[in-house]
Order: sequence, then C-alpha cells, then structure tokens
Amino acid sequence: MRCPFCHNADSRVIDSREADEGATTRRRRSCPACGRRFTTVEEAVLAVVKRSGVSEPFNRTKVIAGVRRACQGRPVDEDQLQLLAQQVEDAIRATGAAEVPSHEVGLTILRPLRELDEVAYLRFASVYRAFTSIEDFEKEITELRARHIAAGTPPLPGMQEDPPVGRRRTGGRGQAAPDGNSAP
Ligand SMILES: [Zn+2]
Repeated sequence: MRCPFCHNADSRVIDSREADEGATTRRRRSCPACGRRFTTVEEAVLAVVKRSGVSEPFNRTKVIAGVRRACQGRPVDEDQLQLLAQQVEDAIRATGAAEVPSHEVGLTILRPLRELDEVAYLRFASVYRAFTSIEDFEKEITELRARHIAAGTPPLPGMQEDPPVGRRRTGGRGQAAPDGNSAP
C-alpha cells in the first residue's frame, strides 16, 4: 500500500483489527520512508449483478445518478442524495449478501426516497415497480395518503406546490476519497 504522504511505494502494517462487527478490517500502517502513519479500511466488495449476468462493484455514484433523474425539478439537494445512497448501501450490506441483483438495488432505493420526496418516489417507483397503468399510480398515491393520515401529516405536501421552474442539478461530486479506503 502506497504512502499517502510521500507516495513511497510500500508501507508496513503495524496493527490490524476488526471493526463494524467484523464487516471491515482496519489496518494501521507505517511508512518506512517518511515514518508517518495512516489507516486503511478493508471490506468485502458488494457486487451488483445486472440482468445480463455481468456483475460490478456497488457504486453509490450510480445510485445517485438514477435518483437525481427522478428528482429533477424537486427540492432535493446533493447532500440528501449522498445520504440516500449511503442508506441504500447500508441497507443492502445489512442483509449480509455478497452480491445483489441490480433490480434489488432499485427496490431498496424506494423506501428512503419515499421519505425524501414523494413525487420523485412516484417517478422512481413507476420504473422499478414497472407501473403499467394509471391505476398503478392511483394505488400508490392512495397508499401515500394513508401513510400521511396515519402519521397525522398533511396529505402529500410535496404535490401541492408547483415544481420550481428551470431548477436542474447537473454534474455532481465524485466519491469522497478519505484517508486510505482500499485494500492493501
Ligand atoms: Zn511516507
């Protein structure tokens, strides 16, 4: 593992311990060239299997890209998208599965997205639950109303306002690269 300070090609592991209930391993490393210390975190790759059978590592940026489309014109900011992607990854990792079908990732997005923005949720759900008719939307909206009644909140507050005009979010940040996040 390369030293992040002086970029020396090698470093020594001086301590290794399990974290997150064994889901990750943290290693304390020391650079023989500059003597500085840093920490790496190792965790199993969560694979997403596409319909074609090809698998690729779970990627929060892709989750965000998909949700961002559904959120166009909605009052959802970049931090909220980041948080949602984190919640999705946590929920999938919590199942203990080493790989997950891509469709399952879409379904996992639905719950936190419903909490975030109901209009975006309906858009997203129409794709991932394969709505085929207006009745599918009606049924979903009826359920959303029922949730509001149960929670004592106004029915679908997000749907009573006009969507902001010309409010588009493009671009976005890449994944953060904190202090050594990869395997040795
Ligand atoms: Zn160094």
